[in-house]
Amino acid sequence: MERVWLSSPHMGEKEQVYVTEAFTTNWVAPLGPNVDAFEKQLAEYVAVKGAVSLSSGTAALHLALKILGVESGDVVLCQSFTFAASAFPITYCGAIPVFVDSERETWNMDPVLLETAIKDQMQKEKKPAAIMVVHLYGMPAKMNEIIEIAARFDIPLIEDAAEALGSTYMEKACGSFGVVGVLSFNGNKIITTSGGGALTSNDEKIISKARHLSAQSKEPAAFYLHKEIGFNYRLSNVLAGIGRGQMEVLPERIKSRRKIFEFYRQQLGDIDGISFLSEPPGFFSNRWLTTMLFDTGLGRGINEKVRLELEKNNIETRALWKPLHQQPVFEDCEIYNNGVADELFDTGLCLPSGSNTSGANLEKVVYEIKKFLS
Ligand SMILES: *Cc1c(COP(=O)(O)O)cnc(C)c1O
Repeated sequence: MERVWLSSPHMGEKEQVYVTEAFTTNWVAPLGPNVDAFEKQLAEYVAVKGAVSLSSGTAALHLALKILGVESGDVVLCQSFTFAASAFPITYCGAIPVFVDSERETWNMDPVLLETAIKDQMQKEKKPAAIMVVHLYGMPAKMNEIIEIAARFDIPLIEDAAEALGSTYMEKACGSFGVVGVLSFNGNKIITTSGGGALTSNDEKIISKARHLSAQSKEPAAFYLHKEIGFNYRLSNVLAGIGRGQMEVLPERIKSRRKIFEFYRQQLGDIDGISFLSEPPGFFSNRWLTTMLFDTGLGRGINEKVRLELEKNNIETRALWKPLHQQPVFEDCEIYNNGVADELFDTGLCLPSGSNTSGANLEKVVYEIKKFLS
């Protein structure tokens, strides 16, 4: 029985051509024509002044925090309902993550709680040094509200768009809203370089700073001169070749993922107690992963039972992200809570959503879910 994956790499036709080009020209280095071309494609696609390709999304988040001046002892407000990589880099800076729960319409940072958190932190201690908002599963967060709050309190906004390349909000690309945006090309994302990420910004000073820090902070001199601590975070020219090919098929990948979402919703959405997340007007999700919710009327832990049943049939599904305020590693961190993330974690399931999932396999997923529920 062939395994049905949650989200596996899906190569197009040109990736290998660009990788071979890197070999034939001997640009097997962390710079070169593939890097330049990939960064240009990214900046054009997201419609920002610049993009710096990096070794991972996590590295991009780390640089974003550094560039915005986040330091030891600072507080960074971070969406709780996300992958741990949104918050880990906060701790790399010696800063303290303080978590903010989600609203129900997009599952992302609740603007009301965000404002409460800022005011409370300012009253207790000091103004948070940055806000980390995430577009989870590709669904854009309520950016108008969040940007307004960030601006009013003059706190820089970092946009973790790792899951949202190709998503738009009010017709603007995710990754273009924050002072800094972050993308990921990890193996499970909508496009991949087998591992990689990027930092995006409309501020050219931020872009050149990211370039500088990511290449060991080398100063222009005839010898190795360093005025600040650097990082080795560049993406190799070989892997950027994969990225170049992937960017050419990104529009197709978005279409496929959205079609997969529509298929699941058509097939399962009418079942009592099952629901899917709709796009509010003006929100366009790349539908990186299709997620479904089970009403508690179907019984507690039904999501886990369905997961185990599908696993028996060699179908990979996953629980939704376990909220960061529930993670043992962050147990000492504060949370501004409304129970939404906890509830989503308790009742949700991610379905196989890879753009290379065959129609037969999608049918099989639906068939097994229906059979189990009936
Ligand atoms: C994947 C992901 C990251 C990290 O990206 P990597 O390239 O794997 O380091 C960060 N945030 C979110 C929300 C992610 O899904």
